[in-house]
Amino acid sequence: METIAERLKSALETIRQTADNANRASDSVQLLAVSKTKPVSDIVLAYEAGQRKFGENYVQEGVEKIQALQALEGTEWHFIGPLQSNKTRLVAEHFDWVQSIDREKIARRLNEQRTPHKALNVCIQVNINDEQSKSGVALNEIKPLAHAIASMPHLTLRGLMAIPNNDLDDAALRETFVQMKNAFTQLQAQYPTVDTLSMGMSGDMTAAIENGSTMVRIGTAIFGARNK
Ligand SMILES: *Cc1c(COP(=O)(O)O)cnc(C)c1O
Repeated sequence: METIAERLKSALETIRQTADNANRASDSVQLLAVSKTKPVSDIVLAYEAGQRKFGENYVQEGVEKIQALQALEGTEWHFIGPLQSNKTRLVAEHFDWVQSIDREKIARRLNEQRTPHKALNVCIQVNINDEQSKSGVALNEIKPLAHAIASMPHLTLRGLMAIPNNDLDDAALRETFVQMKNAFTQLQAQYPTVDTLSMGMSGDMTAAIENGSTMVRIGTAIFGARNK
């Protein structure tokens, strides 16, 4: 069995190769290691292998890990799961990024609860395949939400995040990524702080990078299968 360090290395190699083949700079795609459900000891192994950006989906679990790993310098913690308004304070106080903003109320609470010295980086989550089971806004709701976020002093609008439907065939998946890329380009033209298009997971990172992703969120391919 491969170690976490080996799997991390091969994920980075896939990113580099794919970016290269698509005529993109290899540093134009960031790797977010999604450590949800995995123990702190696994995160330490990834950290020792050079990884700094970590993604968590559950508030309580994420905050416990951030606190346990406070001694690790240079880490960057991204909240990527659904966020209810009664949990925003913990997220605002502990995370560096929230990628799953899907309504103004949540953004407003995070802005109010953020410690003023350092803005919270946020992405708007887009429900790009219009799925009942997924959070996120529709394409035509990006603009008003971005406008609201841009006026909040303790938030920095960094971009868009999406989780495509996992039943799509390859052509439909690519079309979905292209739609996201177009929405991202439009947003970027309006807001200079926007630099992040977060799309691509273990199963579809290649197609995502070929279609403009600037951040892939990889769990299984680094930490192995999850039990829950
Ligand atoms: C779990 C999760 C991932 C990682 O998925 P893998 O298929 O394990 O790579 C990425 N993004 C989000 C939002 C997730 O919830």
